[in-house]
Amino acid sequence: MEIKLVKNGIFPVTRTAGGQPMEQLPDTGYAFPGTLQGEGKLVGIPVLFIRTSGCNLRCTWTTPTGKVSICDTPYASHYPVEVDIMDTGEVADIVRANLGMIRHVIISGGEPTLQPLPLVELARYLKKELNVHITLETNGVLFIPELATHIDLFSISPKLKSSDPDAKKNRLLDYPVEQNYIRDHKKFRRNPDTLQKYINACMHKGSYYGDEPGSPPKRKSNKDFQLKFVISRESDIDEIKQDFLNHLSFVEPDDVVLMPVGGSPELLSESMYMTARLAIQHGFRYTPRLQIDLFGDTAGT
Ligand code: SF4
Repeated sequence: MEIKLVKNGIFPVTRTAGGQPMEQLPDTGYAFPGTLQGEGKLVGIPVLFIRTSGCNLRCTWTTPTGKVSICDTPYASHYPVEVDIMDTGEVADIVRANLGMIRHVIISGGEPTLQPLPLVELARYLKKELNVHITLETNGVLFIPELATHIDLFSISPKLKSSDPDAKKNRLLDYPVEQNYIRDHKKFRRNPDTLQKYINACMHKGSYYGDEPGSPPKRKSNKDFQLKFVISRESDIDEIKQDFLNHLSFVEPDDVVLMPVGGSPELLSESMYMTARLAIQHGFRYTPRLQIDLFGDTAGT
């Protein structure tokens, strides 16, 4: 089955599907495959990435000093021009040839759930044949039950009002967001029912633990989730509580991850201290964007 990835969307790798050495080194600069997960609960874990092309949102923020910061992977969302259409079997073979000691694969985008059928096939293979830990990075607008069964960590990044594209932000962009995406982003970005489905997929009825039937579900040990919010202004924290957490069950404070806005070290420096302070004050988890600290604003790292 075919899947649409960004150009060089399996990374960082050094071997072809057949196991032959590639001519070009990965963008990490290392002569071997792999990088580190840069965000969230698994920050610092060695991983391979699979990045799909295309997104149903068009996140566009304003930084504290008034600069506009779009999605940090615009080549997968805002401008998905260069793509690789690949067979899922070939994707799996490339992962297999480059896995080495790595036990974690991140399926990211763009928005991966826009391609449910090939993704289910790929995730099933990665799990059954390679027995890797799989993280799905998603904006949480869509939930695919068949896919959820193969995923170990749902890294969900629900989007706040501050991410809405608009005419004012558009004036600062070289490639403005189209009107239909301005409308749809507002309409679809918040979906508590879908978020709850992801959370429930990590739960098991109390009886599984020997509790009384009907007791509240508890977290299963082998599936987890995180709600990762991009922070660009103080008021984001009230919105997280009122518009999201108040509508969700079974979310613990350290499932809530606050991440500063910005796809470059300069932009990140504008909001990282405010974000860290909010995490401390409200008992949530802070995440850096380690990939930017280590490799800068470079795709494929
Ligand atoms: S949902 Fe994610 S991939 Fe899509 S535009 Fe927003 S930040 Fe980018």
